Amino acid sequence: MPPRTLRIDLAARKRLLDMLGGNRVSYCYQCGACVGDCPSARFYEGFNPREIMLTAMMGGLEPLLAQDSIIWKCSNCYNCYERCPQDVRPVEVIIAIKNLVREDGKQPHEVDAVYEMIVKTGRSAPVLASLNRKREQMGLPPLSKIDIEEIRTILQPDEPGDES
Ligand code: SF4
Ligand code: SF4
Repeated sequence: MPPRTLRIDLAARKRLLDMLGGNRVSYCYQCGACVGDCPSARFYEGFNPREIMLTAMMGGLEPLLAQDSIIWKCSNCYNCYERCPQDVRPVEVIIAIKNLVREDGKQPHEVDAVYEMIVKTGRSAPVLASLNRKREQMGLPPLSKIDIEEIRTILQPDEPGDES
């Protein structure tokens, strides 16, 4: 059997590294420590942060940038960030890939729905009266009010030419 050839897609890798603003991903030595405590790897077949780091190093991002990318299964819990002995920060690589998918306009519609909800209310899900009733029963205070203007300032990109 001929040796397996691995191709490095330099253009795709550069695009990812530009989005990341650095190249920690090359420090990954594929130990798998990030997989052991990953809830998404446990519950979603095919999701594996170690494999995603390998793909990121090689630049073969196409399946991760596709409409049905498995990348959205990551819950951004940051367990892999804590676990990685090489300080690769896998979650940040995954977030950068999500941003690339968004840049290509291929994100799932649920992502847009969550974004719109945050811009509108400052929260990712509606706060129903029943939720506050449940909190009260549990001895918790009602959810505090959110400074929605502050959230919108953070989320809305500056207008072109705005130097402030
Ligand atoms: S990202 Fe870190 S923890 Fe995960 S395989 Fe690479 S070196 Fe190991
Ligand atoms: S941040 Fe994502 S990849 Fe990292 S442990 Fe959590 S679910 Fe897994």
